[in-house]
Amino acid sequence: MSATRPAPDLPDPLPPLIDAHTHLDACGGTDAESVAAIVDRAASVGVGRVVTVADDLDAARAAVAAAHWDGRVYAAAAIHPTRADTLDVATKQEIERLASDERTVAVGETGLDWYWPGKLEGCAERDAQIEGFRWHIDLAKRLGKPLMIHNREADDDVLRVLREEGAPETVIFHCFSSGPDTARACLDAGYVLSFAGTVSFRNAKALREAAPLVPSDRFLLETDAPFLTPHPFRGAPNEPYCLPYTARAFAELRGEDPHEVARCATANAERVYRLAAGGARPE
Ligand SMILES: [Zn+2]
Repeated sequence: MSATRPAPDLPDPLPPLIDAHTHLDACGGTDAESVAAIVDRAASVGVGRVVTVADDLDAARAAVAAAHWDGRVYAAAAIHPTRADTLDVATKQEIERLASDERTVAVGETGLDWYWPGKLEGCAERDAQIEGFRWHIDLAKRLGKPLMIHNREADDDVLRVLREEGAPETVIFHCFSSGPDTARACLDAGYVLSFAGTVSFRNAKALREAAPLVPSDRFLLETDAPFLTPHPFRGAPNEPYCLPYTARAFAELRGEDPHEVARCATANAERVYRLAAGGARPE
């Protein structure tokens, strides 16, 4: 789907929110000014802080840079499973250095993607993905930082590899898109589930059944911008300011007050990412 539709309108503000997973570089945030503009727009509707996430080495450098430019931005660094075959010694060393940065709050996104191999030219094969995932699990444990999981059509294998390696203290399933059974398995294992615009998609039936099962201290909310723009704006460009649309859709599925959902999600993000409570560090 190409982003040819106009950008979504600003939603009604819903403070306090933290976008627990976005890609500022892919949203056009490539220097201090453009990053600040994206976060200013988000802050105007109550999304005061964002975690910007890497999927390759350049993106990891960009994420850490953005987190140093703007006190409202935190970074996550890793190599995406579809690019796991780029994890040579030099790349591992640099990812480790970037993940160790004081502004980096998670190792991610890593995990397994069984959708793209064979469809996407140059996509890492399953063996390379599993090896890369194991390396990132070990890195998260060594650094004592949360592990942020990308899981596409690989529920059982992601859970198995985590069991085999021994999971880090905090594991976040980014853009949780599975059904009630996988949600229960993740919750039993102590993991945190992060919900994106997909919860607002009317055809995401199993996911929408899973959303109400998650205890109030175990969910995060994210945009995964510029991807996965929430309903009714599918096909339009996504940005962190769109998070209130997803928060309201998630609250509706749970039969809860959106403001209460926002407060819980923010308290959870502060806890799992170990952010100072209540706001960004003044610059
Ligand atoms: Zn992402």
